[in-house]
Amino acid sequence: MIQKLHEQPDIFQIQVPLPDNPLKYLNSYVLPGKERTLVVDTGFKRPECRNALMTGLKELAVDLSKVDLFLTHLHADHSGLVNDFVAAGATVYMHQIDYQYLQDGADGSMWAATEKRYAQEGMPGDVIRTQAANQARKFAPDPHFPAILVQDRQILHLADQYIHVIHTPGHTKGLCCLYIPEHEIFFSSDHILFDITPNITIWNNMQHALHTYLESLDKVRNFPVKLALPGHRKGDTSVVERIDSIKAHHRHRLTETCQLVRTMPEATAFEIAAHMTWSMRGKRWEDFPITQKWFALGECLSHLEYLLDEGTIQCRDIDGLHRYRMR
Ligand SMILES: [Zn+2]
Ligand SMILES: [Zn+2]
Repeated sequence: MIQKLHEQPDIFQIQVPLPDNPLKYLNSYVLPGKERTLVVDTGFKRPECRNALMTGLKELAVDLSKVDLFLTHLHADHSGLVNDFVAAGATVYMHQIDYQYLQDGADGSMWAATEKRYAQEGMPGDVIRTQAANQARKFAPDPHFPAILVQDRQILHLADQYIHVIHTPGHTKGLCCLYIPEHEIFFSSDHILFDITPNITIWNNMQHALHTYLESLDKVRNFPVKLALPGHRKGDTSVVERIDSIKAHHRHRLTETCQLVRTMPEATAFEIAAHMTWSMRGKRWEDFPITQKWFALGECLSHLEYLLDEGTIQCRDIDGLHRYRMR
């Protein structure tokens, strides 16, 4: 489905479906310029995404060989189809940190490190093993593609617009939003989503993920925004209100996590995650899809890491398992 969201500059949104995924669809944004077209993010490397995106681009008469593709971050729902664009002659832009992460993880070492960590945090082995089928892995691109690496505050001239790269680490270490100051248009990617909360997890290569994320929210809070274009679901104009409500959400979560550590001394993160409040439409933890348990544990760990950093709680290694208690 194509929607025109803005005129001068013209901005189109192609809804790329993400089957069997609670995110529902990925927003790919298209800005046709006089000579070249800017495309922001792609969808997974799977036929349903490829069909929707390529059909949409065809309808907009986009010549793939004259596309500048900006990948906001490494996640496969945003970068999955990059190889199709490269094969057709497009130029790819991406932040150097996420690009490097893809290269370093090409041998599977990043997933192996995460699996090892999740086992230490109490996730059962049989649950971990099923995650080889996780969509984030299954539909990821071949990471060996050429890219122009960008940095924070860099100004790109793409689709006849001066577009500022705003590095906002947290959701991933290299996530970038794009901002067009002249028109106050803000591509918020998965940094700010409006009707779901962006997933904040622990990373092999990034400490203090939640702390970093909260700082990155403040970094963009004062940007004047007339149109916010998120990576998933609907956009909005009330960026400040949304930032404040996401921050309140994490404060509430930190309180909840702390209370659970107090009432369940020596529990593992997996046990704590099972007792946190999740908006899964009334489903019990036992009935959660395993992929959701995977995200939930990551989210729980990012809050535990925050509490460890501020010295509220402590973690002990007991027989190879990390166990948490109040300090
Ligand atoms: Zn993401
Ligand atoms: Zn996403």
